[in-house]
Order: sequence, then C-alpha cells, then structure tokens
Amino acid sequence: MVIDSHIHYGRNSVWGDFSPEFVLSLLGDNIEYAICSNIEGIDGINFKNELDCNLDMLRVARKYKKFKPLAVCQVDKSLDAHVMKYLLAEYPEFIGLKFHPECMKLPANSPKYDKYLELAKEYKKPCLFHSGHIKSRFSSPLLIYEKAKEFPTVPIILGHLSTGPKPSHDAAIEILLESIENNDATLYADISWMDFGTGNHEDTITLIEKLKNTSKGDYTNRILWASDAPIGEFNQTPELYAKNLNTFYVKILEHFKDEILLQNLLCNNVRDLYKLR
Ligand SMILES: [Zn+2]
Repeated sequence: MVIDSHIHYGRNSVWGDFSPEFVLSLLGDNIEYAICSNIEGIDGINFKNELDCNLDMLRVARKYKKFKPLAVCQVDKSLDAHVMKYLLAEYPEFIGLKFHPECMKLPANSPKYDKYLELAKEYKKPCLFHSGHIKSRFSSPLLIYEKAKEFPTVPIILGHLSTGPKPSHDAAIEILLESIENNDATLYADISWMDFGTGNHEDTITLIEKLKNTSKGDYTNRILWASDAPIGEFNQTPELYAKNLNTFYVKILEHFKDEILLQNLLCNNVRDLYKLR
C-alpha cells in the first residue's frame, strides 16, 4: 500500500477549484491514506478563518476515511494560537500541523511560529512546512531549519525539499545532513515537485543516496513520498497521478534495486512518523 504524505482540497483556490470528491477521484485503490489539508485556509476567494477551514477539513476526513487531516495554521493572523489549542485538544483526529510561510509572507524563523510549535510539541504533532527556494525570504529551508533547531524534538517536514531548482535541492539536502550530523533538529522531507519536470528522479536519487550514507548511518526514514496533488497540472487526472507514482516506483527500484527501501519511502516512513495504524 501507499500513503500520499501531502495532498489538499479546496474550492476556488488560487491553484484551482478542487472539491474533496475530485481529489479522492485522483487517488487510485492502492492509496491507503492521503495526508490532507484544506487550502481554503491558505489562499483564494473562499478563504476561511483558522477555525472554519479546519472544522471543514474534519468534516471531510470523517466522511472520507482515506483523508488524514492536518490543521492549517494561520500564524500571521493569530495572536495567541488559542484556536489551534482548542482544535488539537478537542479533535485528536488532526494528525499534524500545516504551515505555508510563503503564502503568509511570514519568514519561517519568525517568533510568531513559537506558540504553534509549542502546541506541536505538547500534542506530539509533526509539522509540514511548505519549503521554497533556498533564497526565499519566507520559506527557505534555511529559515525552517533555524526554527526547527528551537524545537528539536518536533518533527518538521520540508515540503518539496525546497521547490528547486537543483542547486536549491542540493542546499536543502546539505541542511538535512547537517541536522543529522549535529542532532539539533528532526527534519524530514517530502519529494513532491522534486523531479516533476523530467520524471528522471535524479534529485530524489541524490537525496536518497546522501541520507542512506550519513556518518551516522541510514537516515532514509526521513524521506516521504508525496504528490502535492491536485496542485500542478501533472497531478490533475487519475491517469497522471498513477503515472507519476509508477515512474517514481520504476526509477527508484531501477537505481537502488531495493523493494524494502521503496516500501519505506511510499508507506512505512510516513506511517511511523504520524503513528498511523
Ligand atoms: Zn501543501
């Protein structure tokens, strides 16, 4: 089975109009779960506040069991994170938190994130950050790493391992290695968008090689397969979604010839991280 560690739904967003049913229709039968957030809490003409967007996510996840909900954090708008505290206390179904520093235009190292990360620590919730170009002043992996070091026990996922291009990926891989070497943050990475242009998975293979051979041993448990669907045209039909998943499977198996590694990247790592059973 496969778990997609990063998807969304949301009507009339800046990325498109995606009903939960449409998103569900993209996922094939071999997708056991998809870790989902409601982008109506991030941007678009249907923009909803932190409470409403997340309660909507919860309704959707209760209806469609494949969706495992993340709570979208509106760090830029909140003064004291009391809404998020309420959501996490009342609804343990939220398996993690979602942050989009780029859309909030709020640098990921800002102290404004602290109250949310304290909640993540208290409730033991991994945090998925959109990570952008290494030079982004909002969502650079460098800024996310800086914040992650202040909360070293909280698992922080670099969504897309930075959005590229290659030098950005390379710099983000070095950050992952540094955090492992120094043991000063718990960083993960999802591979959505990494090689979508070519489908050759070269940067993903580099990421896997480097994490497989750190000075402390094999850290490929920090890598998660993800689509970021339905964002990106390459993610917007069931056929394309299946093709992307299959290309990943074929390329990684061809290179590493290791079925167990593949099963970990596609399913076991994310299952362990979010304690999905
Ligand atoms: Zn996302």
